[in-house]
Amino acid sequence: MTLSTDAALVLFSGGQDSTTCLAWALQRYARVETLGFDYGQRHAIELTVRPNILQAIRTLDPSWATRLREDHVLDLSVLGEVSETALTRDSEITMQADGLPNTFVPGRNLLFLTLAAALAYRRGISVLVGGMCETDYSGYPDCRDETLRTLQSALRLGMNTQLTIETPLMWLDKPATWQLADQLGGQSLIDLIRTETHTCYLGERDQLHEWGYGCGHCPACELRAKGYQTYRASA
Ligand code: ZN
Repeated sequence: MTLSTDAALVLFSGGQDSTTCLAWALQRYARVETLGFDYGQRHAIELTVRPNILQAIRTLDPSWATRLREDHVLDLSVLGEVSETALTRDSEITMQADGLPNTFVPGRNLLFLTLAAALAYRRGISVLVGGMCETDYSGYPDCRDETLRTLQSALRLGMNTQLTIETPLMWLDKPATWQLADQLGGQSLIDLIRTETHTCYLGERDQLHEWGYGCGHCPACELRAKGYQTYRASA
């Protein structure tokens, strides 16, 4: 089957990284669709901010408004049945003995990308875009470039297509990710990411800090705050 190389499906969770990836895709592809997963996250806030971000990003650029098409949300509650982690159960986020945070859902990105590939195939799309990053990857082995290159080969063989997995953040740290957003959409995209996206593990959205909403103490908030401060200091 021939899939369009001018169309992309973005794995879009509603966080800083996937929103930056969405802007990256909107600059490059004539048709961009988005995909989110509902897997019984402890806080469904990511899922509730998604439509607001999609609405807001359309207002930043008329061509982005034209290019941004269908949003898909797949129910992946089965993930909660195969993993007991701090993201899906009410337990504290700690580091495990193997050096991985206990938020780790084994092989999560392999599942996400395989499902995304199946959906992309059906939609005639050949490019998958994901915010996986080896630089700040907290040891998640399914964010490694080698993992994703290998999965891309498996998907190409298994689906008999020239599907591509694009990971624009792979070698960027958090300050560089803010910088990329700046290049893609200037201050208005930075403001959108600051105020509309969600990163905090605890689902806290009461207080707006200069780097966005969040508890300010969990590992995700700390990484996001530090990245923003370093980006601002160098801007
Ligand atoms: Zn937090």
